[in-house]
Order: sequence, then structure tokens, then C-alpha cells
Amino acid sequence: MSVVTRFAPSPTGNLHVGNVRTALLNWLLARKHGGRFLLRLDDTDAERSREEYAGAIRADLAWLGLDPDGEERQSARGSLYEQEFARLVAAERVYRCYETAQELDLKRKVQLGRGLPPIYDRAALALDEADHAARAAAGEAPHWRFLLDRAAPIAWHDGIRGPQQFDPAAMSDPVVRRGDGSWLYMLPSVIDDIAMGITDVLRGEDHVSNTAAQIQMFGALGAGMPRFAHAALLVGTEGKLSKRLGSLGMAELREAGVEPEALIALLARLGTSDPVDPALDASALASTFDLTRFGRAPARFDEAELHRVNAGVVHRLPFARVARLLPTGMSEAAWEAVRPNLAHIDEAAEWWAVIAGPVPVPALGEEDRAFVEEAADTLAAQAWDDAPWAALTSALKQSTGRKGKALFLPLRQALTARDHGPDMAALLPLIGREGALARLRAACWT
Ligand code: GLU
Repeated sequence: MSVVTRFAPSPTGNLHVGNVRTALLNWLLARKHGGRFLLRLDDTDAERSREEYAGAIRADLAWLGLDPDGEERQSARGSLYEQEFARLVAAERVYRCYETAQELDLKRKVQLGRGLPPIYDRAALALDEADHAARAAAGEAPHWRFLLDRAAPIAWHDGIRGPQQFDPAAMSDPVVRRGDGSWLYMLPSVIDDIAMGITDVLRGEDHVSNTAAQIQMFGALGAGMPRFAHAALLVGTEGKLSKRLGSLGMAELREAGVEPEALIALLARLGTSDPVDPALDASALASTFDLTRFGRAPARFDEAELHRVNAGVVHRLPFARVARLLPTGMSEAAWEAVRPNLAHIDEAAEWWAVIAGPVPVPALGEEDRAFVEEAADTLAAQAWDDAPWAALTSALKQSTGRKGKALFLPLRQALTARDHGPDMAALLPLIGREGALARLRAACWT
């Protein structure tokens, strides 16, 4: 059986890091098995769902390289839900209720006061057709609950959490449809998972108790149940579900210079004890993806770590991937020379400005000025071969007896106006003979 997974966000806001992790895990699972990864927009909430969010979700997935193999939207599937719901009505697995939110609240308070679990007491099951007719005549529209089968525990083997067991007698029959006919999340999700042939439902552990109820819905609709796995939630460095993490979106990360490869490399490993490896691309991550590596402890997301991984990714990015993000004229050789010094791609522009010049003239001490003058003469006299930096510094070492910092720093300062930076052996050929001579001469005449 081939694997089909889905990512099912509600387009009521932008994707945040936690959503993206769920999308990624589903993508990796599908790719690992050569299966399909589907996007399902859970937009049954017409009030809160927005087209612009649907567009932003697609754009974020594309930016991350998590392209879905198909897309469905729940708002277009109402007739399927009606049809399946009618089967549940006929089988008496859903029933009509009329309690208001206040009445339910009161019931819960009474139960809690008596030390009982606050679950729905199924009072509406006692209503007969005459009662329903009277309610309808009074203009009351029912909401519908799914009738849980309380005969046996609900059990599944969770791909991450291991064996799970729930006692349906301790659960409320979930409301699946509102009085106005609109759908709540639970049932349409199951109907879609069946219709879309989903083999693996992989989502956050905040859905574990939903899974217990949904397993019975699969059964009530005559379908086998998919495999389930629930990933531990992401927490911030302080170990809590931080507000920042809950709202940290892709636009903000992009703005901060985070590359999608870095986010993917980090999120693919977060929650496992496997090291994050910036060298691994998405297909390498997919081939080594293993749900059993994920633990049950909350996974800590650390933005500082993301930026470290980002640097590791940037150091490996090939020119073709970054060319359009670089300043006009910046060559492949220039990119390769400066790349090891970048934490973010946009810093390449600063180094390109250093390479292209002009650079400010550094204020050198008298001895260093004399040394730089000698460097200029040496460079002018020497052949400009393919390793001019090695030739220049070894000649100067010989002639001046300088070594280490005393040898290299004044040259770096004169050539780049900075104390640190990319390997001079790579920079000097890019600065070029004329440019280098001009900079050395300018620095010794100040
Ligand atoms: N729309 C639901 C959510 O975002 C989907 C949950 C699921 O994966 O079934 O939480």
C-alpha cells in the first residue's frame, strides 16, 4: 500500500513554525515511501477563513519546497459531508441536541461539584420524535453529536507515542454539526481522510483525544482506520509554549535571513536525538526519516540554533541557488570566496562592496605603512599568477621577517579596510592586481 499523507491547516492565519513542522513531517513521510503528500484546507469556518491566508499557505509551502501533490478544500466538499452524515443519521450514530452553551456549562459545574468527570450526560438521547417536532415548531434547530460506542476501550498503536488507550465512557460525545448546519472539524476531517485515501495521519499531540473519537468515526463510516502518529509539541527555549513561537511566521523568518533549507534541516530533527546536519537536503532527510526517532518530550525550538544552522546552510549554498539574490556583477568565485563568512545571504553584498571597492583607507601606524609600501613594491614586481596572495606573503616574510598577525593584518587592513573576513587568498585575485596595488599605495601614503 502506498503512503498518502496530508497537511490540513485552517486558512484562518499564517503558518507558524509548529504548523510548518507538521507539514514537513508529512512531506518527509510521503517522500520516504515514494507516496503522495496532499494539502487540505480546513476552511469550514467561513467567517474566519480567508482567501489571502490560503494563498499565503501555498506560498509558504512553495518557499519551503514542500510542494503538495494535490489540494482539496473542505468548503467545496459539503455535498460529500451531507451524504456521509445521512448515513450516520440512518445508523443512529449521530443525534440531535438542544442544550445551550450556558446549560452545558451549568451541567459541567454540577458534575465537577459532585466529583464527576465533566462529560455530556446524553440527556438529548431521551428525546423522542414528538419532542423534536415541538422543538422545531418553537424554531429551535438542533446541533448534532456523534454517539460514541462505550462498549470497549479505543486503542491504537501511535507511530510516535506507542500504544494508546482511551476509555470512551470518560469522553463526551463530540458535537459534529452546529444548529446552523455548519460543520465542526472532527467529522469532515474523517470523511476527507477516507475519501482522499489517507494512510497516515501525522499531527500534533494536541489532537490525541480527537483521534480517539475519530477512530470510532472511521468505524461508523465503514472504513478502516489510518495509521496515526502524534508529534510532541514545540516549545520555546524557556520550555513553554511561547507566544512568540505560536506566531513566528515564515515572512518574519525570511525577513531575518533564514533560508528554507535551514528551517527544514532543523525541524526535521527537532524532537529526535539525531544531530541537526545543515549538509542534508530535503531528499536526504526524507530517506533517513524515521518516526520512531521522535520522542514524547516537548521539542525545543531555539531561534539562535536556527541561525547557526542557517550559517551552516549558507556556507554550502551553490552559486546557482543564490545568484539572483546577489548584487549585480557578483561572480561565482566571489560568492565562493565570501560564503564561509556569512550567516545570512544578504551579507554577501557587504563583501562584494569590499571586493569591488573603493574601500576606505585604514589609518596604519608608521611601521605598518612602510611595510605596506614594501608590499606594494613586491606585488608590482611579482608575476600575477594564480596564487598571488601566497606569492606576496611568502616574499614579504622573507624580506621583512614578519610573520603571523604582523605579516597578515596590515595587508588585510590595507586591502579590505577590515580586520577580519574571508580568506585573503580567495579575495586577492578578485580584487585584482590594479585594485590591490591602488589600495596598498593609498594605505601607505596616509
Ligand atoms: N485543521 C486541523 C488543525 O489545523 C487539522 C488537524 C488534522 O490534521 O486532522 O488542527
